[in-house]
Amino acid sequence: MSKYIDNLNNYYVNTYSRSNICFTSGKGSILVDENGKEYIDFGSGIAVNGLGICNEKVNEAVIKQLNKIPHTSNLYYNEPQGTLAETLIKRTGMKRVFLSDSGAEANECAIKIARKYSFDKYGDNRNVIVALNNSFHGRTVTTLSATGQDVFHTYFMPFTEGFRFAAAGNLDAMKSALTKDVCAVIMELVQGEGGVVALDKDYVKAVAELCDKHDILLIIDEVQTGNGRCGNLYAYMEYGISPDVVTTAKGIANGLPLGVTFVGDKAEYTLSAGTHGSTFGGNLCSCAAAVEVLKQLDEQLFKDVKAKHDYIIKELSGCKGVKSVTGMGLMLGIDCEDNKAVLKACREKGLIVLTAKNKIRLLPALNIPDELLKQGVEIIKEVLK
Ligand SMILES: *Cc1c(COP(=O)(O)O)cnc(C)c1O
Repeated sequence: MSKYIDNLNNYYVNTYSRSNICFTSGKGSILVDENGKEYIDFGSGIAVNGLGICNEKVNEAVIKQLNKIPHTSNLYYNEPQGTLAETLIKRTGMKRVFLSDSGAEANECAIKIARKYSFDKYGDNRNVIVALNNSFHGRTVTTLSATGQDVFHTYFMPFTEGFRFAAAGNLDAMKSALTKDVCAVIMELVQGEGGVVALDKDYVKAVAELCDKHDILLIIDEVQTGNGRCGNLYAYMEYGISPDVVTTAKGIANGLPLGVTFVGDKAEYTLSAGTHGSTFGGNLCSCAAAVEVLKQLDEQLFKDVKAKHDYIIKELSGCKGVKSVTGMGLMLGIDCEDNKAVLKACREKGLIVLTAKNKIRLLPALNIPDELLKQGVEIIKEVLK
């Protein structure tokens, strides 16, 4: 075991069960460990390096910004945040963005918006947010409170009040959850950590209509599904809905930290001066990266993502040992026996995959070359045999 591995084992808080590999470099969809062994990357970090490791144009933009000015504070104006905000708004039809550093923070902002929107309009006692069973919204105390998995609701009591849960995909359950005290619904369109399960389109549309009818804000958590991952800029575009708030993070800056909270018409002016903020939020290098990422997230890439999705489904579903393959775009879950053993066997053969619940989760780079995709899929097939 290397000194770096020892250092983290000895001096880092023990919150992760890390695999015994120390990656030292990478390029595109290839990762290299400290012994020079190469791996095909079907994880992209966790849906972060969506355009490949060390994407040339992204890195160029970051280095240029780093050498100009990496930070100014949000008390002044700057170029990269403005360019990014304009691009995001023009491509989504939302009205404004707030920039932070992570998915949990983007969701915290969304939760504050929902509560203040309702408080401004209806006063106290209308502050409950309905989330779905099996969801995941982050690791802060409040976003854990919004997460619909009991395993996350231990140790850190008291959790934030005002969250209610409904079974995912069950419209009657949603109807009964939407009582007079509800200000918002929050959902992932493809539940990621929950096992890569896409919600039914009719269900999502019906929930959107209910929210609209009762002036309940619909918050779509696209931290994982966004930025091309599901074959469109944001997954909500594939569902044909117009959410009031959208959050994203993971893939938006291809490896640099950035969270985005979009607001639509209703909540455009909800947060006012002094009601929210972040020292590092919208870091200028992260924004420069995101501007370049968005240039590469074009229609051709979305088509490629869908074609790669079809290829993986064709190769793996019905394969020996596979119960089902679920998900959208290049966000896929394979239901198989003993996913931990499969992950380990893949790693030994030079392929990095992830897990989600009892599944193998695949989140390859959106621009992974067909040849590497094929090699990786062949490794999975071999291992499943
Ligand atoms: C990863 C994730 C989060 C949390 O993002 P962080 O950047 O780790 O805070 C929130 N929601 C979803 C759907 C995620 O996949």
